[in-house]
Amino acid sequence: MPFAVVIARHGGPEVLERREVQACHAGGGEVRVRVTHVALNHLDTWVRRGVIGHDFGLPRIPGSDVAGVIDTPAGPRSVVLHPSWGCSTCAACLAGHQNRCASFKLRGENTDGGLRSELVVPAWQCLPLPAHLQPAEAVALPLTLLTAWHMLASRARLQRGERVLVQAGASGVGVMAIQIALLYGCEVHATARTPERRERLRELGATPWEYEQVGVRGGLRDVDVVCESVGEATWEASVKALKWGGRLVICGATSGAVAQINLRVLFFKQLDLLGSTMGTASDLAAAWREVIDGRIRPIVHAVLPLEQLAAGHAMLESRSVFGKVVIELPQADA
Ligand SMILES: [Zn+2]
Repeated sequence: MPFAVVIARHGGPEVLERREVQACHAGGGEVRVRVTHVALNHLDTWVRRGVIGHDFGLPRIPGSDVAGVIDTPAGPRSVVLHPSWGCSTCAACLAGHQNRCASFKLRGENTDGGLRSELVVPAWQCLPLPAHLQPAEAVALPLTLLTAWHMLASRARLQRGERVLVQAGASGVGVMAIQIALLYGCEVHATARTPERRERLRELGATPWEYEQVGVRGGLRDVDVVCESVGEATWEASVKALKWGGRLVICGATSGAVAQINLRVLFFKQLDLLGSTMGTASDLAAAWREVIDGRIRPIVHAVLPLEQLAAGHAMLESRSVFGKVVIELPQADA
């Protein structure tokens, strides 16, 4: 019997409930995906806990990053799924800005996700599994890769040789942003809280910094682009670290969403403050080519069986992971 993990009410890990569900059937232009792996994102913990003032439309099946197997005339094929899409008919979608669509969908947030034994998706949402990656690795990529690519390539319009700071470099978005900035030939700096994680950042190719060293005399300053996802706790330092004419691009506010800025600094230094959320189909297409060619790689912290889903959420919430936590689903035919 097909199953799904359902969040019927907000709360602790105990609200992640496994239920039997109806079998899926693919219609025209659709494929049925037998799900093998789902990567966790902070979004999963927010859907579970609830966010004040935001309606997730419970009950909701979580899971934005999905890998699985589809049947094709040539036999079974492993795929990874697009995490988001627009209505494809509005002016924003037609201009290629799916993430500005009023009907924008993010799998596992405002439409049911992939933490289930099977699901049906439009065939175009299937990305090919790169030959050199396992499904448990590739599944770690789509959402954070898309987010980071849109931030740096599309919003900040990164230029070769620029000086980039990635705040929270060890996060899912952070490890992608570092790789993208290196790909652009940038000088990459990144922050992390512990010496162990800073060493991992160095191995990735970034110059590691403690948070307290950013934007201060003798620390890291004169940065062209800051990649922000921490928000309240790092905002002031991020602004101080920017050089004149610098750009700050932000996709999240994990520490809190209310920040101040000195407007004289904003206009004297001629700063650009750029908001960014998710990304477009063309962003993911461009980024996936780099994955296929092996120039961007997934960073997987742990692969856990479905029975340890609650432990996976706890790992994310403890902020002790480097890269992604992946959940492996039981296979009915195995
Ligand atoms: Zn649209």
